Formats: sequence, C-alpha cells, structure tokens
Amino acid sequence: MRRVSFVMALVLMVNSMTFAQQIPAGMMMGWQPPVVVPESMNPNIPYAGLTQFDPFGRPFIMYNPVILGTLPQPLWVFLRAHEHGHAIGRLAGEAEADCWAAREISKVNPDLVDQIVWHLINTLGPRGGDATHGNGYQMAEVVQRCRVR
Ligand SMILES: [Zn+2]
Repeated sequence: MRRVSFVMALVLMVNSMTFAQQIPAGMMMGWQPPVVVPESMNPNIPYAGLTQFDPFGRPFIMYNPVILGTLPQPLWVFLRAHEHGHAIGRLAGEAEADCWAAREISKVNPDLVDQIVWHLINTLGPRGGDATHGNGYQMAEVVQRCRVR
C-alpha cells in the first residue's frame, strides 16, 4: 500500500511538472491556484476543462487545447479557476464553481474579473448554455454576484 501511494504521488508530481511546460502563458496571467493540483492538456476530452479524482480521492484537471483555442485568454483563466473550484473547493455544481472562481480571482486581480465579465457577455453571450452550465449572460451574473471587490 505504502509503495503504491508513493508511486502514485510520484506520477502526480511528474504530471504537474510536465504541465508547467504545457500550460499556455495566457492561462497563468493574474491568478495562481492556492493549492497545486496536477493539470494536463488532453485534446480528446469533450469539454474545455474537466476535473476528475483518482482512486485515492485526489483531484487532477485536464484541458482541451483545441477548445481553449476558440476562447479569449481571460476565459482561460476563468476556466482554470472554475476547475480548481471543483478540485480544491470540492464543488460539484457548475454555478458554485463559477462563484468560487470569481471570488478567488477578484481577490488578486479585479481588472481580470472585469475582462472575464466582458467576454462572458460579449464573446460567449447566448452561447455556452447546456444542461448544467448557464449561458454567458447567466455566468456573468454569477461572477458579478460572487466577486469580492
Ligand atoms: Zn465545471
């Protein structure tokens, strides 16, 4: 058991080190996660971002670089923080993860939150809605409600 979790920890560590080289610079502007979660790029996932938990209950995050390429950079940061809301905040709901992201980013970079809101309204707008995620207008409302300054 001890051996397995040591190997697993090593895999996760190497995974997160690899990610540091993969992550687009635009994703790191203005906000850093408060806790390190392994992150990687995966062009095969059907979402822009996806948080999963390993058999030990530890989170890891994947991003689809193709879908990221269709979005402006402020939304990359918002997506990244949103996934960390699932991973660190252990929030299952999409609006709750959006709220966590808005609060965390607004603590360090209120200007970036303004840019995120602008893009949610003007770039995403009526798009982005599905069974669990609101459209851009609804997400912008959540961000404005949850930002702290
Ligand atoms: Zn989500």
